[in-house]
Amino acid sequence: MYILPKCQNPVCLYHEKHEPSMLIKKGKDSRKNGKSVQRYQCKACGQQFTSASLTDNHFHKPELLQEIFLRYTSGYSVSRLSQELGICKNTALSMIEYLADKCRTYHFDLLDSGFLTTDKIHFDEMETFEHSKVYPVSVGIAYDARYKRIIDIRVAEIKIKGALKKKVIADCNGVLPVKIASRPNNSPTMLVELMKSVKKSLIPSGLLFSDDKPAYITVVATCLPPTVRFVQELSKINLKDSKDRQGLGRFRSVCAYLRTYTGTMGRRKLNTAKTMKSLSEHFYLMIARYNKYDLNEVLKHGIVQGDFYEDEWTKRKQLKQLKQLLAVITYPQFLKKQQRIQKLKATWQKKKALLAVSKTKKVA
Ligand SMILES: [Zn+2]
Repeated sequence: MYILPKCQNPVCLYHEKHEPSMLIKKGKDSRKNGKSVQRYQCKACGQQFTSASLTDNHFHKPELLQEIFLRYTSGYSVSRLSQELGICKNTALSMIEYLADKCRTYHFDLLDSGFLTTDKIHFDEMETFEHSKVYPVSVGIAYDARYKRIIDIRVAEIKIKGALKKKVIADCNGVLPVKIASRPNNSPTMLVELMKSVKKSLIPSGLLFSDDKPAYITVVATCLPPTVRFVQELSKINLKDSKDRQGLGRFRSVCAYLRTYTGTMGRRKLNTAKTMKSLSEHFYLMIARYNKYDLNEVLKHGIVQGDFYEDEWTKRKQLKQLKQLLAVITYPQFLKKQQRIQKLKATWQKKKALLAVSKTKKVA
């Protein structure tokens, strides 16, 4: 069993998409147990890896994956998980990472396939933090209010602001520490990414709701087709006054649900410090849980039976042989074709001559 191979280099063009033609064989590695492992190289960036790094993860207790998924998305901490299930913390962490990765690819494939198509989407941003409150993070949420599904959740670093900024400046003798001051504001790019997901699922004449932040108007205008009806309402509007009472109510309950679990995450210590990466991983697990994806389906997704490399290289060999065969066949074929054309030409000229003769006879 294998996962469709992608280049292992995170900055490579072929990191996200599977492209077998970009792989070549590159020698062999010998292992301590005497076996040799084939090395491969990405043609685009030169990164090398072995087939072992591309086979699907195997855990000693794969039956625990379901349990971990359910418990972790209900707000369990990693240490409590490992205590109750009798596994070590690092195993629990790597299982969570594996699950998050699976959920992410499954969710995005569903988005691309059009399964999450809807006519009503609510979106908004909420704020949380990584490590500490002086490193705030913006979380953008797009929610399908018609069928109660989360379309996408994106996270981005933002700058510190408001009363907390004043307090930090006062505490640090009037200067904002470099680490805090140099924090980028990635919220606009995050919103553009979020809109891409919205575009995939919202029908062209659909409704899009958000609060009254002025920046949203330009983002929506640049990323979505002009036929989408964009409705902005006051951020603290009463449910009674909203144009989409039911949808807004549902959206608010989802935000509350997510806020609770990001809250419990902040309390974790040691190796699960709240980072951007763990946050976005966590959200994909939450999406899978909330949208009620079948975990067995998620785990099976993208895995192909057999050995990718064996299959791929026999295919390439056959193609090569076929090409050689074709090259041999074409030249005689070309000669035959030439002969046929010359014959046709000759008969045609004879006919022409005969016609000319008959015409002249008639005239005469
Ligand atoms: Zn590459």
